[in-house]
Amino acid sequence: MDNYPSLAGKLWLVGAGPGDPDLLTLRAARLLESADIVVHDGLVGAGVLALIPPHVERISVAKQRSRHTMKQERINELLVREARAGKQVVRLKGGDPFIFGRGGEELDAARAAGIACEVVPGITAAAGCAAQAGLPLTHREDASAVSFVAGQCKDLTEQDWSGLAGHGRTLVIYMGLATASAIADKLIAEGVSPGLPVAVVERGTTPEARVLRSLLADLGDLVARERVASPALIIVGKVAARADALDCLGTPGISSVLKDISCEY
Ligand code: SAH
Repeated sequence: MDNYPSLAGKLWLVGAGPGDPDLLTLRAARLLESADIVVHDGLVGAGVLALIPPHVERISVAKQRSRHTMKQERINELLVREARAGKQVVRLKGGDPFIFGRGGEELDAARAAGIACEVVPGITAAAGCAAQAGLPLTHREDASAVSFVAGQCKDLTEQDWSGLAGHGRTLVIYMGLATASAIADKLIAEGVSPGLPVAVVERGTTPEARVLRSLLADLGDLVARERVASPALIIVGKVAARADALDCLGTPGISSVLKDISCEY
């Protein structure tokens, strides 16, 4: 992209939070009111989209029926073009723009094009889903470290899974539904206890949310049996036993087993 200054256009990379419109920041809500155009992805909740005033132009770059997402370069070009035309462009992204949101790439594109750009954080799915489940991601007794990991990487080989779970750690897996079973196998092969609790939160913070709980060894079965649908988040770690969730272990009385777990994770 060539380098010439925009008129007074500006790009705002805005986090829309995990779904519930009440979890939008005040700044994000204000920007939706004052924007000339909102470019949003498919993860942004309907309740949030409903806050965009009718006079504001709206473009979806969500997955189309053909299942093709608008290529990231095309999105970057669109954002730069609209800002260069002097518009206040709000790029609205699910959760936080900088957590698996490719916000960094859009920021780079804006900077390279000399477009003023500001980032507005949003509540990322991990925080929203944990809150919904009443599950503290850290806890003085259970976990003093948290990792956010993308589960969709090719063959899972791009990720070093060692040390991410167990031993006072919480592992939060984004985009991990399709690979849930393989991830569980991988973690167990790395020495993580198959009896480590897991929680799966589907459509966190929305009225349709489901929170399911199981053990690591049963994660793949749980996802398949319960037909867990996207978006869903997988939380692996001792803290998952604290989730206010449906236990899906197929074993009567397993809740008490989970509460009594004393093996070293
Ligand atoms: N930028 C987003 C993440 C985008 S990646 C954020 O900060 O939250 C998309 C993944 O996020 C989904 O596959 C899912 O794993 C997770 N996710 C997003 N919203 C969710 C929700 N409401 N409930 C459960 N998982 C969610």
